[in-house]
Amino acid sequence: MSARGSSRRVTAADLVGCRYRLVQRSRHPEVPRTRPALMRGERAGLARRAVWERLPVGPARGDSRARRFLRIDIPPVPLDGDSFGAELATLEAVAAQATLITGAVFATDSWRVDVDILARQPDGTYLPVIVSNHRVARSAEGEATPVIATARLGLGGPLDAPYRLRHHVADGYRLALAARALEDLGVDGGWGAAIGQDRTRAFLTPTAPLQPALTAALAEITPERLPTVPRRVKECASCRFWPMCEPELVAMDDISLFLPGDRARAFRDRGITTVTGLIDADLGEPSRLARAWRDGVPLLRRTDTVTAPRADVEIDVDMEAYLDQGAYLWGAFDGAEYHPFATWTPLGGDDEAENFARFWAWLQARRAQAHDLGLSFAAYCWSNHGENHWLTMSARRFGGRRYGDVVVPDEQEVAEFIASDEWIDLFRTVRSQLIGPFGLGLKVVAPEAGYTWADGDFDGEESVNARRLARGVDTQAMEMRERLLRYNGDDCRATAAVRDWLRRGAPGTPRL
Ligand code: SF4
Repeated sequence: MSARGSSRRVTAADLVGCRYRLVQRSRHPEVPRTRPALMRGERAGLARRAVWERLPVGPARGDSRARRFLRIDIPPVPLDGDSFGAELATLEAVAAQATLITGAVFATDSWRVDVDILARQPDGTYLPVIVSNHRVARSAEGEATPVIATARLGLGGPLDAPYRLRHHVADGYRLALAARALEDLGVDGGWGAAIGQDRTRAFLTPTAPLQPALTAALAEITPERLPTVPRRVKECASCRFWPMCEPELVAMDDISLFLPGDRARAFRDRGITTVTGLIDADLGEPSRLARAWRDGVPLLRRTDTVTAPRADVEIDVDMEAYLDQGAYLWGAFDGAEYHPFATWTPLGGDDEAENFARFWAWLQARRAQAHDLGLSFAAYCWSNHGENHWLTMSARRFGGRRYGDVVVPDEQEVAEFIASDEWIDLFRTVRSQLIGPFGLGLKVVAPEAGYTWADGDFDGEESVNARRLARGVDTQAMEMRERLLRYNGDDCRATAAVRDWLRRGAPGTPRL
């Protein structure tokens, strides 16, 4: 075990995704982290604080009176900061046999792992516990996963509960690194735990099965194995080193510029490594799309004619959810007006349920009104996986609850609506008729239909941050609420614009 406090050692997060980041980080240590990365760090800090507040500060009534309880809180150290003091404090806390240690840091010459909590077990070993903003387990009848209440860490033992663990690669690496560090000190108990979005429970998992993947990942970051050139992947879009990698990729005319990640594997296997090579290979659709990419043509028609479904009464719907916690905004555009149904209080309770019930009642009233008048009705959505998920989950969690004049629908009612031909995924309509080298996201297609967003750069990550800030009551919270509503309203109107454009035959779109 080393305690040199180096800021260059890898962390669990470095073992996931692009390994060229490590190369760029050592070449350009001065490049600051991006705003989304900083916001992610801030959310992680908030999660840790929420958990630490729930940890015990002493034995509870009923715990042995003779029991010695010692909690040591080590102040956090930024990932690029000097962790020497924290490493030393961790070793001292373990040597002092502290019951709970928060903010522990272990490091070797090559890696560093921050362990949010170390909980001492009756046999003298330590249970490493990490805090994550992921959902780390789902309830599952018939399953038995050991769980300890956060408030009983260091005091109580685990009980089996009906949950199934969800594996997150970086979380697994963190626990595996922590287990290695504890083993070096002779206090590894073979188990680790994760506290996810539910801050009240730590879910236990054995750490031995996590070790082979960690060994393999660490082997990939040796100097001989690190890549010598970039390759474009999904995460480039939010990576701080993109301004350095992009010119390298452009100079190489690398095929990943057009086909990121593994999508070019089949062509690389054939020796095609550049965009020009793919165009020249004349392989039909891939070559024509590569040419469109190079020429900056975003969309091509797969079919001679392009169209879209039509109904007498049309509504465009878009939903915003916060992580796995719930849906806080259901927006609908009826061709004239945008109707938002929003809640800004914590999700999972009556406020979310009532908000959903009001949206559902409004939508179904419009539908019934159309039917009563003998008119056809359709509600549209862009790629409705998220909407279908939260329609179903809202019904499952809150179905039957009444709020004044509205009732949350049950799952069957929602399922019937989703399966009906009055709920239309416009993305599927587009995908069957158009293709594009930049994908078919709403942000790619709608501008071709002449629609632009008021907040053009407001992506998913930004909206998660905005929702967190919108929960407050200050001026910033009010601004965030307005921004989220504007964004959601724009998404609804963009879907309407795309419908209209498709019906006009997608003018200006060349044939594939
Ligand atoms: S921009 Fe892309 S290729 Fe470059 S370091 Fe970041 S993720 Fe890797």
